[in-house]
Amino acid sequence: MHSLRGIAPRLSLTRSSVRLPLPLHRLPQSSIRIHSKHFSQSPSHRLPSMDPNVKQHYLADSPPSVVKLEIKAHWDTLKDESLRRYAHYMSRYVLFTAKATVARTPTLVSSCNTTLTVAGFFLFHRAAFEGTRVTLRQVSPESEPIYDLILSLHRAANGDWAGLAKKASVSEEDLRYFLEYAAQFLGNCGNYKGFGDSKFIPRLPASAFEALSSTTPETKDAFQKASTTGGGIYETAEQSLMHLGYPQSGHMTTYYPDSPSITKDEITAVGDLMEKKGLALENTRLRKTTSGDFELLIASGVSNPPSRDRDLGETDSFELEGSLKGKTLRLVFGDYKEEMAKVAHSIKQAELNAANDNQKRMLEAYARHFGAGSIESFKESQRVWVKDQKPALETNLGFVETYRDPHGVRGEWEGFVALVNLERTRAFGTLVDSAESMIPKLPWGTDFEKDKFLSPDFTSLEVLSFACSGLPAGINLPNYDDIRQNLGFKNVSLGNVLSAKAPNEPIPFIAEQDQEVYRRCRDPAFEVQVGIHELLGHGTGKLLQETAPGEYNFDISNPPISPVDNKPVKTWYKPGQTWSSVFGAIASSYEECRAECVAMALGCDFEILKIFGFGDGTVDMDGEAGDVLFAAYLQMARAGLVAVEFWDPKTQKWGQAHMQARYSILRTFLDAGDDFVKLHYTKDDLSDLEIRLDRSKILSHGRPAVEKYLQKLHVYKSTADVEAGKGMYDDITSVDSWWASQVREVVLKNKVPRKVFVQANTILEGDKVTLKEYEPTLEGIIQSFAERNV
Ligand SMILES: [Zn+2]
Repeated sequence: MHSLRGIAPRLSLTRSSVRLPLPLHRLPQSSIRIHSKHFSQSPSHRLPSMDPNVKQHYLADSPPSVVKLEIKAHWDTLKDESLRRYAHYMSRYVLFTAKATVARTPTLVSSCNTTLTVAGFFLFHRAAFEGTRVTLRQVSPESEPIYDLILSLHRAANGDWAGLAKKASVSEEDLRYFLEYAAQFLGNCGNYKGFGDSKFIPRLPASAFEALSSTTPETKDAFQKASTTGGGIYETAEQSLMHLGYPQSGHMTTYYPDSPSITKDEITAVGDLMEKKGLALENTRLRKTTSGDFELLIASGVSNPPSRDRDLGETDSFELEGSLKGKTLRLVFGDYKEEMAKVAHSIKQAELNAANDNQKRMLEAYARHFGAGSIESFKESQRVWVKDQKPALETNLGFVETYRDPHGVRGEWEGFVALVNLERTRAFGTLVDSAESMIPKLPWGTDFEKDKFLSPDFTSLEVLSFACSGLPAGINLPNYDDIRQNLGFKNVSLGNVLSAKAPNEPIPFIAEQDQEVYRRCRDPAFEVQVGIHELLGHGTGKLLQETAPGEYNFDISNPPISPVDNKPVKTWYKPGQTWSSVFGAIASSYEECRAECVAMALGCDFEILKIFGFGDGTVDMDGEAGDVLFAAYLQMARAGLVAVEFWDPKTQKWGQAHMQARYSILRTFLDAGDDFVKLHYTKDDLSDLEIRLDRSKILSHGRPAVEKYLQKLHVYKSTADVEAGKGMYDDITSVDSWWASQVREVVLKNKVPRKVFVQANTILEGDKVTLKEYEPTLEGIIQSFAERNV
């Protein structure tokens, strides 16, 4: 389960996600208060006081980094007629969300005279955005009213924000602060950061916000509601409530509604019981009633689904055990009922005209999941989805990732539609075809490699739309281990998310003389890196195993010779042992590091650079391919430097697998000798710190240093030598006091606000579908949401 989420906008992809260690996140238990205190509401003008130094950590980004999710070029390449129809009907769907009413759905479907593959897709798409309000409600009670407030202000402004501010006697600066807040809010689909889980609050005074909202009765009401629901728009009396987490620690969560006294142990106990009974929890919330009993709220379009559609049949009440003896747990269907009903209805419409049996099966399963709340049905939909290999359009939706539930078991709503990047997919295909000639160039022999290269599933997509609290840079689904092991999974990178950037985004730590080549080549370089990392990185390597007692997948009488010490190997995986069971907590970062090193080693191969369209395959550091290679090394070095942001000084631990790996690769560069890479600065506070990387030494110093490191990573992994592997990795990823204090400080100082994405809408005019893009501005993102109208 190797993800790209770490690379850009979000953390890892899988359930073993790491939470960012925020300095303010963990507060002493003494600050525990009960939610109801906050929810009983104080009007906005009587805000609780918070130390200004503390408060500044929570102020909205000024300005946020608003970027366009570029899709037009890929949209325009949809030449194939069937692809165009796909897109056409998907777009019709989006139009319908623009004027959405459920009653229109049947018309929509019956007017769809092409295959239902198409209808399925556009109904999915519709369903994904119908869930926007579910995502909002999963963040905080106040998120949905704040969303409505922003949309009502957009209507009141009617395209003239300055005019609205003037009418309300609000200063230009305060208007800008409002717009900045609104953009960040929409980009995160709620008022807590999608990455980091802390609340952000507007920079304009509450009184100015109230004044801005005073011009129409609608905006007035909306402001009142947003200010008095949940924790309100601004800071809360208790700092703990500014972070998502367990209610027990005074944190905000909506996964345990109306349950101020629910404890972590109780949540665990209920979870354990349900696991025993075989009920997964992704689409649930848990409520503790005043009597101390529990209700498991299950997302479903009906309140009383027929027992044949329920995962646990007729049983809907359980006696709890252990410390909860005497209490009961009741299953309560119909959570998010209205939204789930709409989604299930859309999908049932699609199912009526299914193009083939597979699709019918998938749609049926989805409909049962959203209609009756069956997770077994959701898993069935995912099984069919996994088998649908390399479709032209890719989509998925549901309660998928569990990062935001403090307990890490309940999923957040998300849904996306994406187009395949044909050009890049071709390059990846050629790269896989070249594996046979490329793998022998890696620093280990055939004993440490699989007999036959099996290419991991990997596709490059461009996102048309993604409804969620923060766009990932990649997707690796489904999360269910039994499906992953038996049927596989899809591993996808999202190209236009990865490459999105603000027009004049500063690039700290890159020397002036390298800025031009870096700006020009960092995207192509990253594309090469990602392709090699995913396909030849994670795709290579053999684990030496005793597969069953006395049986080995290598010659035990004449064991392979380790290239690290030129001695026969002495360790291997025993029956039942796996890579992650042996390497434990470091396994995921270590493997990311191995894949990154493969990318750094083979990225130096001009034949590979040619596959991606750079150069003619001959070694030439001064040509275009050389530029891309230089940018790739520079980019890795820079990533390794800024990685220290993800190292937590309090716990002395890394919070992000990829970044930990990149830090170790930078250290490898720095130790490569002859000043191959230097961190250059003249000031004591490192304020002029920059990376000096000698382009002429990449092949002579950089590559050999990486290969030496890679060889050890690989052989220790292959031979289950956790002692040597962990020793090396802990050492090279250790952070000394200079890095921890001085470097980290200058890195944090240069941090660019997290990106918020402006996504396009599509509009049907007559028979023609047009893509409507929006300016990557504060006003643009608000407009895009307003016109999506969900
Ligand atoms: Zn990876």
